[in-house]
Amino acid sequence: MAKNITIIGAGIVGIATASYLRRDGHAVTVVDMRPPGEYTSFGNAGILSPGSCVPQALPGVLSKVPGFLSDPLGPLAIRPAHFLKALPWFLRLVAASRLSRVEQIADALRPLLQQTFDAYAPLVQHAGVADMIRQTGYVVAYSSRAALARDALPWKLRRDRGVVVEEIDSAGIKQHVPQLKGEYEAGLYLPEQGYVTNPERLTKSLAEQFLKDGGQIVQRKVLDIEVSPEGPRKLVTDAGNMALETLVICAGSHSNEFTAKLGDSVPLEAERGYHVTYSDPQFTLPMPVFLPQQKVFITPMEMGLRIAGQSEFAGNEAEPNYARADVLAKQMQQIFPGISNVDSTRWMGRRPSMPDSLPVIGPASKMPNVWYAFGHGHIGLCGGAPTGRALADLIAGRTPDVNLVPFSVTRF
Ligand SMILES: Cc1cc2nc3c(=O)[nH]c(=O)nc-3n(C[C@H](O)[C@H](O)[C@H](O)COP(=O)(O)OP(=O)(O)OC[C@H]3O[C@@H](n4cnc5c(N)ncnc54)[C@H](O)[C@@H]3O)c2cc1C
Repeated sequence: MAKNITIIGAGIVGIATASYLRRDGHAVTVVDMRPPGEYTSFGNAGILSPGSCVPQALPGVLSKVPGFLSDPLGPLAIRPAHFLKALPWFLRLVAASRLSRVEQIADALRPLLQQTFDAYAPLVQHAGVADMIRQTGYVVAYSSRAALARDALPWKLRRDRGVVVEEIDSAGIKQHVPQLKGEYEAGLYLPEQGYVTNPERLTKSLAEQFLKDGGQIVQRKVLDIEVSPEGPRKLVTDAGNMALETLVICAGSHSNEFTAKLGDSVPLEAERGYHVTYSDPQFTLPMPVFLPQQKVFITPMEMGLRIAGQSEFAGNEAEPNYARADVLAKQMQQIFPGISNVDSTRWMGRRPSMPDSLPVIGPASKMPNVWYAFGHGHIGLCGGAPTGRALADLIAGRTPDVNLVPFSVTRF
């Protein structure tokens, strides 16, 4: 039966969910204070990676933190003022890093992400932007064989779940990405992975198609949700109240502000990342490159070449610290000496990160007619369309072809 559904959040997760719900004939309204795709979904690395089933925290994570924090070019920063607030989240992250739990997390993520290309295909074809999706594979480059050997676990976890990971040497790296000038002794090629040429345009294009298909997008800030025992009643927004029947929370790193109101306390951190995009680098790459030692992706986009990475814990509201983006720019100079930084742009976004690297997908635990789809952390672009499709199945009473039990909000 068609329902009246309101979604908070017009990032990639909200828009992909709205698109799938609209295909089922529901009356769907998306509410966001920004135009579609202008928050975290704006500036990510664009990687579409059905194989990204490995959680952020692996065994031994704690021993790596001091090294990361003391390295000025390191990938991790924690603002002292935020440390105590984030401590419970970090304790959960450490608890999720034991091997048995890591295996369970990878088992849960792989079937969801395996659908990345398949779940985007009908949406991008319908919106006329299928050319934005590229399945080129990507290259992983290590400075030494020893560094690759130290990272054996995450690649084994992927291989164990059917991800094709081909080992290549320095000649193989050059063959795939001749532009990569640094000395890389060992590498990998993951042929089934890919990228989107412009994550912002992807979200906006799907949103435009959703509007053409009769969906609604309302630009308002949601201030509160009025609830009754029968479910949510009204959204209180900065431009008046909106009546509610069925509600879906896709508000990225702000989602826990709403779940708290709906009776679910969720450990969610804004894991802030940065990018630098070089609009005129004088060259491009045939595919993305991942440098695990620096924890950065470099992606050839229609706007130029983008380097993205960094994990900064400072909460949602703190001003960006563009020194973190300068770290990326410095790394880019080391990787591509002399790259022209004319017109390079810097950006900060907030990954909606759960301590166990699993998003929350499914019904609210206490409130009828409320559904959640948020917390995708590093894999929200990959997971957007698969999440939207699975949630639409649930709301329609169909059985999703992904086991959503591990993504339940009741796991906390
Ligand atoms: C540097 C970086 C690189 C990344 N690289 C990749 C990658 O290569 N591949 C990948 O899969 N993922 C990547 N990610 C992660 C990915 O970008 C996110 O997981 C994804 O964008 C989250 O999408 P979302 O729709 O959940 O959230 P968002 O895009 O943040 O959307 C949430 C929306 O909710 C709205 N909202 C919040 N509060 C309110 C309110 N009170 N009222 C109204 N609206 C509200 C916001 O305005 C926003 O538009 C990267 C992230 C970063 C930062």
